[in-house]
Amino acid sequence: MVCLICGKSGTKTIHLVEECMYRTGFSYDYSECEHCASLSRTTDDIDENELYPSQYYSLTSDPLATFSSPIAKFVAQLLACSAFSHFGVILKAAHAFAPRRDIRTLSSILRSVRASEIRGSDIRILDVGSGSGLVPFVLSLAGNNFSMGIDPFAPNTIKKKSFALERTELSDVSGTFDLIMFHHSLEHTANPNQLLKTAKGLLGPDGRMIIRVPTVSSDAWSNFRTYWYQLDAPRHRSIPSRSGLEQLFASIGLRIETKYDDSTTTQFWLSENVKSGLSLMDPASNFSTFRGSHKNFLHKALDAKKARKLNANLAGDQCCYILSA
Ligand SMILES: [Zn+2]
Repeated sequence: MVCLICGKSGTKTIHLVEECMYRTGFSYDYSECEHCASLSRTTDDIDENELYPSQYYSLTSDPLATFSSPIAKFVAQLLACSAFSHFGVILKAAHAFAPRRDIRTLSSILRSVRASEIRGSDIRILDVGSGSGLVPFVLSLAGNNFSMGIDPFAPNTIKKKSFALERTELSDVSGTFDLIMFHHSLEHTANPNQLLKTAKGLLGPDGRMIIRVPTVSSDAWSNFRTYWYQLDAPRHRSIPSRSGLEQLFASIGLRIETKYDDSTTTQFWLSENVKSGLSLMDPASNFSTFRGSHKNFLHKALDAKKARKLNANLAGDQCCYILSA
């Protein structure tokens, strides 16, 4: 098996991982690379169209409907403007105190845009694997950019002055972009190396790339093993290690400007739900309801503290890289 991340062949172990979002009853083999420890799915005879049903969580939220009320739109606009500003207090507060998990996730994404330090006007942004296009829509509200989302499974096509959503692959995109983003999408793809090469070719002068992915170089993988919810078999074709990712970036000529972890308490309580046999789509697991865990206040605070400590030590279950060409 050739590692999808570092490109070398050699398997240390095969892990059998059960599908846990819908509990289809199927399990899939993943090869652990003997060089970089990344996981690559070995099962190949899967119809990818069956993996993303129309109720798949990132395809269901219509951005125009979600932000149709003036208050929701105003808050989203405020958050979007913060992503291009020197003052990160609003995003930090939204990330810490927002009552819904999807708003906290959105804040995390916007914090990575802020970390890319793309500023100014007429910015062109491409979000690869954008689902229904919620993130590029919110970014476009800042008024200083054109943001386009692409996804082969996008529910529809939208063309506006500052926002577009297309049902397409990266290889069919033309033009140049100041910022190209992969928010938990690279791990879904069959050839991350080719994809990043293509993205590099679309990057304008002084452009930046954002890669946010789950990583096996984490406490969550060490502790929960195949119950770790971010394995998301079989949708995740690969789950990279940090060293594998960094080899991949170097081989393509992408330089790391910044890296940090933005893992959350989900690494604990959603993995515990998987371990207890719940389907992630079961409302009782609170994955699809965007609520937090069922734990009491004290346990939630302890989990949050643990996640912050893991992030500080680059041992969280998801990481963010800001890259330049
Ligand atoms: Zn490898």
